[in-house]
Amino acid sequence: MARLMISVSGIRGIVGDGLSPEIVTQFAQAYGTYCEGKPVVIGWDARVSGEMVHRAFVAGLISVGCDVIDLGIAATPTVQMMTEKLDCAGGIIITASHNPIMWNGIKMLAPDGLFLDAEQGAKILEIRENKAFAFKSWDKLGKVTKYENSAAEHIEQVLALPYINPMQIRARKFKVVADCINGAGSVILPKLLGELGCECIILNGEPNGIFARTPEPVPENLTVVCQSVKQHGADLALVVDPDSDRLALISEKGEPLGEEYTIAVAGDYFLKHRQGKVVVNVSTSQALPDIAREYGCETEFTRVGEINVTKHMREVGAVFGGEGNGGVILPELHLGRDAIVGAALVLQHLSSANEKLSEIKARLPQYEIVKMKIELSENTDAKALLQVLTARYKNEQIDLTDGMKLIRNKSWVQVRASNTEPILRVMAEAQDRETALAMAEELRTVTEELEKNNH
Ligand code: MG
Repeated sequence: MARLMISVSGIRGIVGDGLSPEIVTQFAQAYGTYCEGKPVVIGWDARVSGEMVHRAFVAGLISVGCDVIDLGIAATPTVQMMTEKLDCAGGIIITASHNPIMWNGIKMLAPDGLFLDAEQGAKILEIRENKAFAFKSWDKLGKVTKYENSAAEHIEQVLALPYINPMQIRARKFKVVADCINGAGSVILPKLLGELGCECIILNGEPNGIFARTPEPVPENLTVVCQSVKQHGADLALVVDPDSDRLALISEKGEPLGEEYTIAVAGDYFLKHRQGKVVVNVSTSQALPDIAREYGCETEFTRVGEINVTKHMREVGAVFGGEGNGGVILPELHLGRDAIVGAALVLQHLSSANEKLSEIKARLPQYEIVKMKIELSENTDAKALLQVLTARYKNEQIDLTDGMKLIRNKSWVQVRASNTEPILRVMAEAQDRETALAMAEELRTVTEELEKNNH
């Protein structure tokens, strides 16, 4: 398997086995050249290798004349907001998101704080390929300035939103377990909770990048935080991934809601107060579209990937949306997945509704999701295989926004190619687990048969 992956959403690799300072600096030179030597914001997610990747990237930026505004350890949504706010030509986050400790990577932003799209990303690759770097002489190199206040400014803007009532939340004196997975969340989530008058039990709150567990915030990795909720009699737990764009919730019973329910709980509060278009990716649970419909809001679907969702949100003037895996997007704040605004909306919901989190979840639409992978053999063309699969199901209701999604009654199953691995991802959703499992199994079996017959 490749140890260095380059895709529309940036670079990801294993340190010491693909991701080297040379590669990082070259990308920085290409990115800085693309930004025409104008100022760039940078932040990192506290990974152990972050210091190396960060310094290598900064060196490349200043070599092509970019002034660098260094936020230090900062969440991805903080860097997105500061790129826009400080009027920079670009923004960079040094992170491998939820990947394990040996990984690191780079997320690249446009001046508006959105991720670069495929076309913009291709331009940077082209500059790198042609080594068309606009190096500057000694007297025109960029300068590095430290900027210490970004987390506080991010929180300030969240608390100033018209839908958030900090006084009301403070009055409830919530007891909250926060698991920051030793990442960028450590510098912002406890601070937010402090300002909202919460009594906090902080887990993994040292921003040292030494992840105390597997960092992806999916239920199988969250047993310790679930126990902690019960042990402390907390109202809920908030769990972020290392760069704090994804948020997972755990109820007062110590039960994970499943990441799909973050956007559903936040949306259930928000859309009650502000109606408009909702945009999610096509792999997101039906729970949010169902809720949106109840509040008279229409939902539109895009390909998977934050940039696809945010661009469409801007096009249609959406008021709310995101990605099912815990990625809440509130365009009024900024167009990016943001665990901090997600956390504030959930606490606001709990204080307005005067209900427990498990009670809120129980009255939302109930769905079960099953995920599987199909390992492809080396000579399989994923695109061609998906076409054969699509032909096989042409008499049923299908959606081709991303891979193939087969829709039956209140359930669906989707098969799509991974952007990062030689696999197909199978995801199924139904109102009960048996149906979801059966649909996922069916599509996996059929796809594997088709792959075999094609060779
Ligand atoms: Mg992330």
